[in-house]
Amino acid sequence: MTFRWVAGVACAAAIAACGSNGGQNGSGAGGSTAAASSAASNGKADTAGGAVTSVAGGAIAAGDTTHGLPANHMGRIPVLEYHVIAGSQNALYTRTVASFKADLEDVYRRGYRPITVAQMLDKDFSDVPAGKSPVIFVFDDASPSQFSYVQGANGQLTIDPNSGVGIWEDFIKTHPGWKNRATFCMLNGASDGHNFFGDNPKYGGQQKAWRFQKVKWLADNGFELCDHTIWHMKLSQYPDDQVQHQIAGNMMAIDSAVPGYKIRTLALPYGLWPKNKQLAWQGTWTDPKTGTAHPYHFEAVLEVAGGPTRSPFDPQFDPHHITRIQAVGNDIAKTLDQLDKTKNRFVK
Ligand SMILES: [Zn+2]
Repeated sequence: MTFRWVAGVACAAAIAACGSNGGQNGSGAGGSTAAASSAASNGKADTAGGAVTSVAGGAIAAGDTTHGLPANHMGRIPVLEYHVIAGSQNALYTRTVASFKADLEDVYRRGYRPITVAQMLDKDFSDVPAGKSPVIFVFDDASPSQFSYVQGANGQLTIDPNSGVGIWEDFIKTHPGWKNRATFCMLNGASDGHNFFGDNPKYGGQQKAWRFQKVKWLADNGFELCDHTIWHMKLSQYPDDQVQHQIAGNMMAIDSAVPGYKIRTLALPYGLWPKNKQLAWQGTWTDPKTGTAHPYHFEAVLEVAGGPTRSPFDPQFDPHHITRIQAVGNDIAKTLDQLDKTKNRFVK
């Protein structure tokens, strides 16, 4: 997808073009998930298959068909990559609400529990019960569909239950052990509302004044904030000073929303590296107006593809090259199937 500094039609045109690349419906996430979800929402511990008997011990949760896998701390970790969550048909950069919900059900049923990139860097798997596996959800581009507010008659704001965050919060209510752990790689100055989840009512009714409140809500509620540049620049095509401005400018904007927040992760727009590769994780932009230097230093750099990433316990784990799985078609389910088949899945 193409973003620009000034709002325009380029992004929409690009998305339409990309749509022809991946029109699968993602229904492969499993026909039994609806039944499992229903059982969970009814407060019953039984799954559709009757295999799960109790949640009292916390080891086996409703809808989860795993029963404690053997530990494998050298196994791979799936880092899932989402963009827009909306629409009536899946495409390269769009996942429908139904497919996103199905994805959540599927990874839960397989015994995955969410952590952030920062937790992976810290080898912190405290949110994953023994015998289960970590999964990292990453939301790129700060689209309004990921995090929308609905304003009530009295002016109060509530999270739109059909936005990504709203769906996530509802999922927590019916799925024991699922927490607010995901990584949001945000833009703060791109076109088409990709500015901290919407800067104009024409993008899903979102108000510019709500942007910082959303970013702060994420940080306050357990999610990780990640730098994705100001407006999604192709870093490979620009000189060093502009690359550093894109990265440091986004960091400064996040700091304006959440003062003092320490960003640890950057996602490369389009997966494109700057000519001077190291600038992706370390650099300094000096404001020409004030002469003030704004250094940045991140520990992790996310690529756009490449499959499940190495464990942080693996000597070959390279935090500057964290690979991901795009939420396209049935790629997530296929990848998780393969991890099980090859017994190459990280299990705590
Ligand atoms: Zn992006």
